[in-house]
Amino acid sequence: MKDRLDEIREQGLAALREAASSDLLEHLRQQYLGKKGLLTEVLKGLGKLSPEERKQLGQLANQVKDLFATTLEQRKQELLEQASLLAVPPDLSIPGLRVAGGGLHPITQMCYDLNDSFRSLNFEIFSEDEITSELYAFDYLNFPPGHPARDTMDTYWLAGTEDKHGAERLCLRPHLTGGSIRYLQEHGAPARVVYPGRVFRNEATDARHERAFYQYEALIVDRDFSFSSGLILVQTILERVFGRDIPVRMRAGFFPFVEPGFEIDMQCQMCQGDGCQLCHGVGWIEVMPGGSPHPNVLRASGLDPDIWSGFYINIGLDRLVMMRYGIDDVRLFHSADLRFLEQFK
Ligand SMILES: [Zn+2]
Repeated sequence: MKDRLDEIREQGLAALREAASSDLLEHLRQQYLGKKGLLTEVLKGLGKLSPEERKQLGQLANQVKDLFATTLEQRKQELLEQASLLAVPPDLSIPGLRVAGGGLHPITQMCYDLNDSFRSLNFEIFSEDEITSELYAFDYLNFPPGHPARDTMDTYWLAGTEDKHGAERLCLRPHLTGGSIRYLQEHGAPARVVYPGRVFRNEATDARHERAFYQYEALIVDRDFSFSSGLILVQTILERVFGRDIPVRMRAGFFPFVEPGFEIDMQCQMCQGDGCQLCHGVGWIEVMPGGSPHPNVLRASGLDPDIWSGFYINIGLDRLVMMRYGIDDVRLFHSADLRFLEQFK
């Protein structure tokens, strides 16, 4: 009989809690607590038990009966409240929920701004795969065979190809420059092209370095292209992106794929040239290495270095964005932290 009571309690309470109308509640009340109700039957049956059992089960049955009564009352109140809510006509003048708006990542925005600037100067936008080969990443670009950048310390080589060479040895592109060779091989010269994208380096991260970061490279190839024209190009692009003149300086630099090579620094916009932690106190930030394509690079592209010359610049997108907004830690760009990103909407 105890089992029967447990069963009635389980099923009855569940039915009460789910009842969706007061009619159904009344029906359930009859079914369990009415004159011939299931619970009433149990209570009637108590008379046949021994005094000991009767006392024990009688107490239990009364508890169940009380529980039924309170649950029924609770459910009745809930239904009444729901009904009164529904009875009020909806107020169509209440403001709606604001839909969260998206925005471009500041690096994407910078990339688009540069695209606009270069397009206005008649440059084409070219894209290349993120996986490339030793041939395009190093051999064609005049990196000597023992160059440290080929080492696994700096380049992510793809498993299974580490022991191969040239076109068969694959890697995540450690820079974009290989794309320029592909472009020139396909399109020839003269050329004005930009090829933005993500590059990968196997190095420790700190406030100015990340393992994966965006670069933006531009190349002009033409007959007798002069350095001074290149400098004007850099100044024009920076002026368009920042909306004002930005002091720029050029220093000699060495990179295997250029001859001569240089570093272009822009005035640190965090401190306006006074020196701060980000620029290590010098007031300048290195934003774009570059130079004239090395004769070997032109030959690898199928061009005669006696006829063609040119101008590479590799723009550090992260650095430019840091300068534009005064951000002092490059890792924030890849943190996916909405508190940071929502500032740029
Ligand atoms: Zn500074």
